Amino acid sequence: MFEALSERLEGAWKKLRGQDKISEGNVQEALREVRRALLEADVNLQVVKEFVAEVQDKALGAEVVRGVRPDQQFIKIVHDELVSLMGDTNEPLAQARTAPTIVLMAGLQGTGKTTASAKLALHLRKQNRNALLVATDVYRPAAIDQLVTLGKQINVPVFELGAEANPVEIAQQGVAKARQDGIDTVIIDTAGRLQIDQDMMAELAQIKETVNPNEVLLVVDAMTGQEAANLTRTFHEQIGITGAILTKMDGDSRGGAALSVRQISGKPIKFVGVGEKVEALQPFYPERMASRILGMGDVLTLVEKAQEEVDLADAEKLQEKILEAKFDFNDFLKQTRLMKNMGSLGGIMKLIPGMANKISSEQLEQGEKQLKRVESMINSMTLQERKNPELLSSSPSRRRRIAEGSGHKEKDVSKLISDFQKMRSLMQQMGQGSMGMPGMGGFP
Ligand code: GDP
Repeated sequence: MFEALSERLEGAWKKLRGQDKISEGNVQEALREVRRALLEADVNLQVVKEFVAEVQDKALGAEVVRGVRPDQQFIKIVHDELVSLMGDTNEPLAQARTAPTIVLMAGLQGTGKTTASAKLALHLRKQNRNALLVATDVYRPAAIDQLVTLGKQINVPVFELGAEANPVEIAQQGVAKARQDGIDTVIIDTAGRLQIDQDMMAELAQIKETVNPNEVLLVVDAMTGQEAANLTRTFHEQIGITGAILTKMDGDSRGGAALSVRQISGKPIKFVGVGEKVEALQPFYPERMASRILGMGDVLTLVEKAQEEVDLADAEKLQEKILEAKFDFNDFLKQTRLMKNMGSLGGIMKLIPGMANKISSEQLEQGEKQLKRVESMINSMTLQERKNPELLSSSPSRRRRIAEGSGHKEKDVSKLISDFQKMRSLMQQMGQGSMGMPGMGGFP
């Protein structure tokens, strides 16, 4: 998978080899190679343009890092942009507050929709969430049988009303049945056509309106490349999707679909299908996917390490920020990351003179737990919010979003923000004093 793309990108790195820094002059050729590599991988043109512009910005803005060659630094920038293009983190399947969670599967015929429905049911079962599969593809009688067979194979019930019933009705009754039986998630397999077809779209829209699903997952065949971009756009415009499942990633996909879906629809790929078997479904991780595309694990680690050293040199800048009370959540994350690189919180505390015996291991454990909670909340903030914690003090809806995104209560987020602000002014007051471990003192 992605071999051609990886090989092509090699050409881009080569353009920077032997240079002493990335410059306006030498980056153009490298960018041209990246552009060509992505187009050949069948990534949508618009997506490629935006991607290349973003990489150019970052590459020209990047500081020279000691011990890192320009080509290595460029690889890291392309990697980070790939991750961001694909959505940064894995987004799991939604879960309704009150069961059942309703998942509507959409997509063209032959993309692997029926198979993906069964795969998803099995995946949920492994997480102790039971499922009901609902067969609404009445146009291809074999489709119902196929789902029934798959259901038997994985021991998941299948709701069907034969090939004479109305698909909207089947979906509605299926959901009612799940509710009645106390089932956690209903997965509705729908009819596909070989091409986009207005009748199919209308039916899908009607089912969506009737059952009001928590997820509308577009099943996309990874082998279709450019096609996938158009398909995603049409389905998103006409139906409104919440995410995608990319199937047949075990084949020799050129990568285009994986890189286009998010940029086109703003919705994440949630799972990938990696084989015909029902077990062959994996959560989608942008980071892992980017690393697989580039196949450059060593270089990435090297650049990260070197950048951390630069971060340490950033300490002076940080001091300034503290004095001006401009210390933000980004700085906080950076500091905690540095701290983690030095070892566990316990290890660090013990190094502080006079601390060794004052903190119980229980307290330390709690501190580490709290740090994780804080980090998860910060990770749910947008970059803008991390830069301007004030945005959050004035917006309950932002706080709610963060709470939901990180699995906390709104009051936890409010407390984090007020603690953070208190800590910031305290740090400012301490002024010239040592920086110590910013962030730890303020959070109980
Ligand atoms: P539907 O028409 O969209 O419901 O598609 P199906 O679920 O019937 O799948 C069409 C074909 O693709 C079948 O032969 C599946 O076994 C195959 N298929 C589905 N998902 C994958 C996958 O992730 N990898 C591979 N290699 N084949 C798949």
